[in-house]
Amino acid sequence: MSKKLNPQLQHNIREDAYCETHLEPPQLFCDNDQVTLCGKCFQSQEHKNHVVYGIQEAAENYREEEQNFKTMIESEYSMQFRLLSEENDLNFLRLHRYQCDSNIRGVSLNHLNRFATELEEKSQEMLQVRY
Ligand SMILES: [Zn+2]
Ligand SMILES: [Zn+2]
Repeated sequence: MSKKLNPQLQHNIREDAYCETHLEPPQLFCDNDQVTLCGKCFQSQEHKNHVVYGIQEAAENYREEEQNFKTMIESEYSMQFRLLSEENDLNFLRLHRYQCDSNIRGVSLNHLNRFATELEEKSQEMLQVRY
């Protein structure tokens, strides 16, 4: 395996380090184009009406954006967690109701069984009376 850098990567590094057009180190960052600009790029017509930051400022903005993104994800996660626990509550209620239902069914089944036993006893009594 060769230790040579991937040519594409090398190209990207060169692009990052120097402005491709003016071969000068980048000092600014164009927010509209999401590219780094050298001083000459900044003076060109192309980025005249664009939002341009200093490189330092852009890095800070990026960090801030990253922080906002993190906060957003965290709040979304906690919301999903809340929804999930609400769903669990619902499941619990459903389960609870199901248990109640089966209890009711159990009770009426017991009633039926007792009634059947009573009937049986009564009929046996009647039979005993007859014989
Ligand atoms: Zn340039
Ligand atoms: Zn631009």
